[in-house]
Amino acid sequence: MKITEKLSSAHRREDAPPTFSFEFFTPKTAQGVQNLYDRMDRMYNLSPQFIDITWNAGGRSSNLTCEMINTAQTVLGLETCMHLTCTNMTLEVIDEALKSAYDSGCQNILALRGDPPLDGSESTGCFRYAKDLIKHIKEKYGDHFCIGVAAYPEGHPDEPDVDRLIEILKEKQDAGGDFMITQMFYDVEQFITWCKKVRDYGITIPIIPGIMPISTYASFSRRAKWCQINVPSWFQKQLDASKDDDSEVRCLGTQLVADMCLKLVESGYVNHLHFYTMNLEKSTIMVLEKLQLIDTHNQPVASVRDCGVESQVT
Ligand code: FAD
Repeated sequence: MKITEKLSSAHRREDAPPTFSFEFFTPKTAQGVQNLYDRMDRMYNLSPQFIDITWNAGGRSSNLTCEMINTAQTVLGLETCMHLTCTNMTLEVIDEALKSAYDSGCQNILALRGDPPLDGSESTGCFRYAKDLIKHIKEKYGDHFCIGVAAYPEGHPDEPDVDRLIEILKEKQDAGGDFMITQMFYDVEQFITWCKKVRDYGITIPIIPGIMPISTYASFSRRAKWCQINVPSWFQKQLDASKDDDSEVRCLGTQLVADMCLKLVESGYVNHLHFYTMNLEKSTIMVLEKLQLIDTHNQPVASVRDCGVESQVT
């Protein structure tokens, strides 16, 4: 089922709780793949609206992404979204991936440009930008796929100007983008200001925030630095104070991220939370528990379960 249909079905009632989804990446070993299937199977019980699997730019593990989408969709019974990039990839690889998703019953593609080669050489891909890939998917498959696009409330290494990035986002919507998933962030005020700008610019597709739970101080600091995002000083100070105590960081991080999710939902711009799980479950589950979207037995609370069931039967 298409993500946009699932979301509008789950949020038909105004007081419906926020829904959520999980991102996974392709593991490097066969054992890692099996472990991830087991984890996905357990996380199925939490009633995510969908799960998505990342794509290695250049298509280095494209077969594995396709295989995992197929297993998650057809064996584990999860609604899937396949990431697909277009830099450094032939049209043949892109079309094979789309066909594989189609054959698996996957109806959602996150259409991305991907990062250019690390050595600084020119991309040899058949499409230049994500919007070109979106147009191609539309030309080949019409409305079969629900197409997601990436969004950057805090800027992108190639384009720090957030206003220019909103123009590019609009181009992706106009090309056929149906929903957006954002980069990770911890500055909620900045995010809400950005949402207003996005709406004022005429972008109407659902805004799905990318939520990165905090599991350790080291991983939090590394990712925030790598993604070049702003961490509000009060947020940073609280984590700094407990940085030598892993379990304290996890508890505090859970509270901070849950508070952030609540503010997002209260803003009215967001009704769905997308978790970057990093192929782990504990930190995401702790945030969901804190938000009371699942209970302490890791079962969805009744209202969330209703959302899932309602959307599955329609
Ligand atoms: P685009 O929207 O095409 O934009 C990229 C850049 O191109 C812009 O910043 C701008 O500088 C330029 N540009 C775009 N349109 C125009 C135009 N009309 N005129 C001039 N310049 C233009 N990467 C992976 O490899 N695999 C993944 O699975 C993956 N998943 C992701 C999931 C999410 C939610 C996000 C936010 C990112 C993900 N990425 C992934 C990273 C992404 O591929 C990179 O950030 C990439 O550099 C940009 O991709 P894009 O789709 O946003 O590109």
